[in-house]
Amino acid sequence: MSGYIGRFAPSPTGPLHAGSLVAALASWLDARVNQGQWLVRIEDVDGTRCRPGLDRVILDQLAACGLYGDQPPVYQSHRSNDYQQALNTLVAHGLAYPCGCTRKDIALNLEQGGQGKPRHGELIYPGTCRSGLQGKAARAWRLATTVCMEKHPDVHVDKAYQAINYIAFEAPPSDNPGDNACLVRWYDRRLGPQQQDVASQVGDFVLKRADGCFAYQLAVVVDDAAQGITDVVRGQDLADNTARQILLQRALGLPTPRYLHTPLVLGANGEKLSKQNGAASINTTTPQAACDEIRTAARRLGLPVSTDDSTQDDRAEWVAAWGDLHGHVGLRTAS
Ligand SMILES: [Zn+2]
Repeated sequence: MSGYIGRFAPSPTGPLHAGSLVAALASWLDARVNQGQWLVRIEDVDGTRCRPGLDRVILDQLAACGLYGDQPPVYQSHRSNDYQQALNTLVAHGLAYPCGCTRKDIALNLEQGGQGKPRHGELIYPGTCRSGLQGKAARAWRLATTVCMEKHPDVHVDKAYQAINYIAFEAPPSDNPGDNACLVRWYDRRLGPQQQDVASQVGDFVLKRADGCFAYQLAVVVDDAAQGITDVVRGQDLADNTARQILLQRALGLPTPRYLHTPLVLGANGEKLSKQNGAASINTTTPQAACDEIRTAARRLGLPVSTDDSTQDDRAEWVAAWGDLHGHVGLRTAS
């Protein structure tokens, strides 16, 4: 066993579809090529969206495809205490604050400021409650993004990458160092250097919602650290969350894992497959069907797939080919 720990983290909001199987296979292959562990985490933090019994369906689908976690699955719904503790830490350090705004308040405030442009349908919070609730009752808790960046500034060579002896990259030079003050930079093993200005592009995002649910971003960061995840391999649709998660890792003093985002799988209509747009479940009702699904996933990852119709797949070859494509991560003694 090396120090590598990877994970696949499905939400039980629908069965696995072709896109989620690609992400599962990619994270499994990356763990195998690095002689690491592969964990499964059921991301049921948002109980309002989850359907009972779907965790079992997903685990059975993975098993039918020969993908078994190296430890029993972890459920986010059992981990609220840890999320609350993390939120308490942020509040104690002045990095999180209560917000009393409704959606309507936020929309109105943005309109008055002449900046109502939503991002992925989400309104960028204008920071109304940053300096206090002004008599409103607390509804949600938000990260104080700018304070976070001031206290935990970006560095040219990310310390986290240095610590794990992985590739470091230089940020493009700027005439005015202040320009980059709010940029979070990271290196994606497939997509290369990435950056996002969280304060202006996302704003003070929610950590705990008005309905008492912890936000996905906080839960993922706390869980990745608790499980010692060194490598996050997941679908590209989640790449946009990375900067927020890195910012939270810094704020909580947690290590930043390496990231690799796998290509999106598009449906016949050219849209990405997702549970939200009703992507069909993979078919694992027979060994042959499951084998066909996993071969399709392997093909989508650019791996060599034989065309015979046996139920034997080419897993050993895929592991080797994945290693050629995405490299061994050069495991190190983390200190
Ligand atoms: Zn507010």
